[in-house]
Parts: sequence; structure tokens; C-alpha cells
Amino acid sequence: MGCTSCPRHCPADRVTRKGFCGTTGLNIARVGLHLWEEPCISGQKGSGTIFFTGCNLRCRFCQNETISRGACGRDISTDTLGQLMLYLQDLGAENINLVSPTHFAEPIAETLQRYKPQLHIPVVYNSNGYESVEHLRRLEGLVDVYLPDFKYADDDLARTWSEADRYFETAAACITEMFRQVPHNIFRHGLLKKGLLVRHLVLPGHLENSKRVIDFLAQLSPDLYLSLMAQYFPTPAVRNDACLGRRLTQAEYDEVCDYLFSKNMENGYLQELESNSEAYVPDFGLEALDRVLAQLSSKPLS
Ligand code: SF4
Repeated sequence: MGCTSCPRHCPADRVTRKGFCGTTGLNIARVGLHLWEEPCISGQKGSGTIFFTGCNLRCRFCQNETISRGACGRDISTDTLGQLMLYLQDLGAENINLVSPTHFAEPIAETLQRYKPQLHIPVVYNSNGYESVEHLRRLEGLVDVYLPDFKYADDDLARTWSEADRYFETAAACITEMFRQVPHNIFRHGLLKKGLLVRHLVLPGHLENSKRVIDFLAQLSPDLYLSLMAQYFPTPAVRNDACLGRRLTQAEYDEVCDYLFSKNMENGYLQELESNSEAYVPDFGLEALDRVLAQLSSKPLS
């Protein structure tokens, strides 16, 4: 029996054999407060991030490559995952932010079914948009805020840069499902408590791709919240690539912003081009994670 956690449907069983996402079991790489998400996610105290190891996309320009290729992390149980959520809540996190959760949707749903009653902060599902609608349905009522990427409207780009087939139709179906679950954004003191915020990273030289993404979102709802990101920077892996080897220009970003406004989409966030810096990539050293895990293991499970 293969894995059905995401649209790839790999033959791997994920117990003895890794699939495309590069992981078995339940594996995390970083836990901590994060201040560099959108203001309605980070708030004043920081978003309580749990970064999962591995990824079911293989973006050539990935900025979290250290962990997305599955080479760095610690195996944990669903109990420990639940305890980590409570630890972040005790630390004062504005929310629990599950980063790259798609390939662990099943153990996450299992954890949330047990631990959600003890959480009084929102659960944020921070994903890449390439997932299974069936799994999203199991998360209904467990996830408060969906924070998906919508990377490509152009399937050729998705295939070339992220090794993903049928990305557009897959992500469109997933975002439609997320919108069905949480059609109205609810904010309290500037923080998103329930709803959907879609992220799109504008890639240098590919403005048509961005405009087609905006077309889709505008027809879903012009009131939808979009975070239009300008933070692309070429990682060492693509530094010499003819397309991906340069940063976005202000003129390119402005053109996409103008297109967004022409569709009457006014909810969400724009970015300064100065945000396209390696400085915003978290440190994925495991020492801090090991300290937290050691602290939890010396506490009785509640
Ligand atoms: S979650 Fe991983 S193993 Fe499962 S289908 Fe997706 S890429 Fe393959």
C-alpha cells in the first residue's frame, strides 16, 4: 500500500521507505517564536512555528533547503507534537504555525483531535498548496487559519521548477476547499483568528504566471486576502540559472501590484523589495530543538 498523503501517491509506505518528500514517521526541524510572518500572523509576540522536515515539492529555488530535502530533523511522536503546541502556547505564541505540514497531514489531524481542546490560540496551516482535498476535509474544524502558497498558474513552470504535475488544478482545488471551510476572515486586535490568507511569491521574469494566479483568486473572491511576496532571492543552487539567478526588480513587482488593484483586490499585504534577503531565513541548527525536546521529556505528559 502506497502513500496517499499528497497528490503524488508515491509507492513508498513511509514506515520503511521514504517517498518523494524524503521522510518517514513524523519529523520536525525547528520550533520557536517567529516574527517575520505577515503582521496578522506574527503579531507582537511571534508566531509559534513548528517546521516539519521534508517537502512534497522540490523547488529549485527553495529558501529552506536545509530542511525541505529531509536531511535535517528529529523524529517525534504525535504526543510530543501535541506537547510542543502547548509549550509554544505557554511561551506566549500568538498561534501555532505548522510550516510545511502537507506530508504529515494525518498525524497532525490525529494530534489536533487530542490537543485542540487545550489550545486557546489559533492553529495555522502553512502549506505549499500542493495537497489532497480529502486530507484537508479531515482538518475541518481543527485548523483555524489556512496560509497556503499559490505558486504557479503555469503547469510547465511547476514541472520544471518544483517537479510537480498538475500544480495549478491541484492548488486551485485545495484553495477552493480552504475557502469553503473558512470563507470569512476574523481578526482580533490585528491578528487573524480564523480565515484564509494566500501567499504568492512573484518570480523574476514570470509576471504572466503571477497575473494568472491573481485571476484565479479574484474570481474565487475579490475580497480574498493575498500576501504578494517580493522576497525572492537566488539561493546558491540557482545563482547561475538564466531565469532564477537574479532578484525581482521594483518595476516587475509594481506591474504585478497594478494588476492586482485592477482586479479590485485590496485585502492583504504587499512587501518591500528590501525583504528579499537571506537574513530572513531561520537558523535550522538542531541544538535549540534538542534543548526543547529534552525539556519536554523531563516533564510528565499532560
Ligand atoms: S506525502 Fe511524500 S511519500 Fe506521500 S505521496 Fe506525497 S511525496 Fe509521496
